[in-house]
Amino acid sequence: MDVTVNANINSTLKTRKDNMNTIDAYKKLDETVDMKKVLGSMYSMPPDISIENHMRFITSNLGNPGLYPGTLKMEKDVMEFIYDLVGRTDCISGRIVSGGTEANITALWIMRNIEKSRNSGRKKILIPPTAHFSIIKAIDLLELEPVIVPVDKQYKIIPEEIADLSENAMGIVAIAGNTEFGTVDPIDKISNIVNIPVHVDAAFGGFVLPFMEDKKSFGFENEMVRSITIDPHKMGLSTIPAGALVLRNADMWNYIRFPSVYLTERENTSLLGTRGSGGVAGAFSSINHFGREGYRKIVDNCMLVTKYLAKEIRKIGHFIPVEPETNILTFDMPEDTYYKMERKGWHLSRTKNGNYCRLVIMPHVTMEVAENFVDDLNEITS
Ligand code: PLP
Repeated sequence: MDVTVNANINSTLKTRKDNMNTIDAYKKLDETVDMKKVLGSMYSMPPDISIENHMRFITSNLGNPGLYPGTLKMEKDVMEFIYDLVGRTDCISGRIVSGGTEANITALWIMRNIEKSRNSGRKKILIPPTAHFSIIKAIDLLELEPVIVPVDKQYKIIPEEIADLSENAMGIVAIAGNTEFGTVDPIDKISNIVNIPVHVDAAFGGFVLPFMEDKKSFGFENEMVRSITIDPHKMGLSTIPAGALVLRNADMWNYIRFPSVYLTERENTSLLGTRGSGGVAGAFSSINHFGREGYRKIVDNCMLVTKYLAKEIRKIGHFIPVEPETNILTFDMPEDTYYKMERKGWHLSRTKNGNYCRLVIMPHVTMEVAENFVDDLNEITS
């Protein structure tokens, strides 16, 4: 029998001190990245209190809620805050999940099973080209048939062009703050035009749009919207992992109900079994820490910095294809400039649609960080 692996583990991680030293080395490696210079991620450092409370619930398992009644209650309290963001309905129901991916997969799973229960045979699902890859994963897992719908120059679904397409489809995905450009599909118009369920992916925009002056409608006030993904661990500034899925009607959970006899909850209605609970405590703490007023100030500031960057980047001569609607900015950047900026320590990202450079202006991208970015870009471009 080959015992080399075990022998190695035993010999390298023998004592607590050895264990800590090894982990320290990994942690130091993470810390070589200057997080302030990360302009391509949807994550920003949560407040200390969220990290502290996350750790207090690190051993709780929401997948077996009868054993963790406090955690369950806390999840309900977090959801109450989120219901106000997405628009309450009489039978609204939601839960904290591991992130946007799990929420999107679960939403389409429910949508598919509702359709299946009607024996319609319909498997077509309309999606914009900006759909996050978690939607593509869901389509693959659920064996659905994607139909890419036309979008305008802002990469937003054109409602008038989906009426015919929707006739033999089982549903449509619309996005409130797409990953690449941050733009918002016209969900009100889409809901008026189609007669099929709409799933809204507001993983990013859900904690942005409700706090903007110009309020864009993306929630359940739109009749055909059946489910919404909204992530506390993005602009909610919670610890990872904390996503959320909200359903218009609690009955919809019945379509993914499975016996889980050995657990305290005899039937399970989530994709995961064991569910980490630290993120719930993190989300609870962040929501309490910032409150609606705090989030409003954060969004205000992110938009201020986004507009400053757009103005300065344009001045340098880069083309901006899409006017930022949320705190995501894209612009034309030659490959060599991109790599030179990376060599200066900037962590950027690129879009699949159009191959633009993409910046996510999270709260850690302060005006000072933005000014440094512009200085470096100016120096490299001139
Ligand atoms: N939906 C959108 C619009 C996103 O931008 C993302 C991630 O960036 C996701 C879903 C997936 O979220 P997660 O990475 O939390 O699974």
